[in-house]
Amino acid sequence: MGLFSGKKGLVLGVANDFSIAWAISQKMLAEGAEIGFTHLPGDKMERRVRKLADPIGAKLITPCDVQKDEDVARVFEEARQTYGALDFVLHSIAFAPIDDIKCNYVNASREGFKTAMEISVYSLAIVARHAAESMPNGGSIATMTYYGGERVVSGYNLMGVCKAALDASVRYLAYDLGPKNIRVNGLSAGPVKTLAASAVGDADKLAGLYEAVSPLGRNITREEVGNSGMFLLSDLSSGITGEILHVDCGYNVMGSPGRAIEAA
Ligand code: NAD
Repeated sequence: MGLFSGKKGLVLGVANDFSIAWAISQKMLAEGAEIGFTHLPGDKMERRVRKLADPIGAKLITPCDVQKDEDVARVFEEARQTYGALDFVLHSIAFAPIDDIKCNYVNASREGFKTAMEISVYSLAIVARHAAESMPNGGSIATMTYYGGERVVSGYNLMGVCKAALDASVRYLAYDLGPKNIRVNGLSAGPVKTLAASAVGDADKLAGLYEAVSPLGRNITREEVGNSGMFLLSDLSSGITGEILHVDCGYNVMGSPGRAIEAA
């Protein structure tokens, strides 16, 4: 019996096998989960996700653009028809127009701000609203966040402001859905090489910084992010909600460059 035996859920945010959503899905699948996947509309996006989800026999692989209310509503309707009640939902989605994330936040455009906030933050609220209707027995919702929402991380710019709002959303949604026994948590991962990460300036240098500064003296592995995501979506974390769990080798607890200074 796996940790996820008999559990069914939806994962939004697999783009390819580098995606954090895929790392977490793999761990849940190994524990017996049944998972439906969404992808951005378009043949290319569908092919990429089908390449991963078809071999594991996913019964639901469907397009979803979180900027469209009707897409989110349809996806959850399809999930209900396919699986009945859901136990977990992973929201692993972020986007900002490249010009608005490459520039300092002070220069981000109004349109770029709106788009980034809508896709990276508001989407969690609308996903949680529909997820709640699909979770009559309670459940767990998790989203992916980053330390750049708590402190200034150069290069993270507008996305840092989005993650701050996402972290606050986790707390308010946890409060809203607590009476239904639905938990909402955020997983704050250290740098992982993915499509989305390549849009962030200095992404490569960031990984080196984690190696130099974090208490564990290294950066996080994809595997570890997968395990922590699985934990938040499983019953093992049943008493935890509204939390931001850092899976970052302890980087966030440092108030100075630590051993990196001692070594200098
Ligand atoms: P990724 O590119 O694999 O995933 C981003 C996903 O967002 C893609 O699947 C993409 O299709 C989806 N997306 C973008 N716009 C969308 C829209 N309008 N509708 C629906 N889906 C949309 O990269 P990733 O690094 O796995 O990112 C997943 C999450 O993890 C993001 O929230 C990211 O900010 C967060 N995160 C990443 C890191 C990292 O270092 N990679 C660290 C901490 C947090």
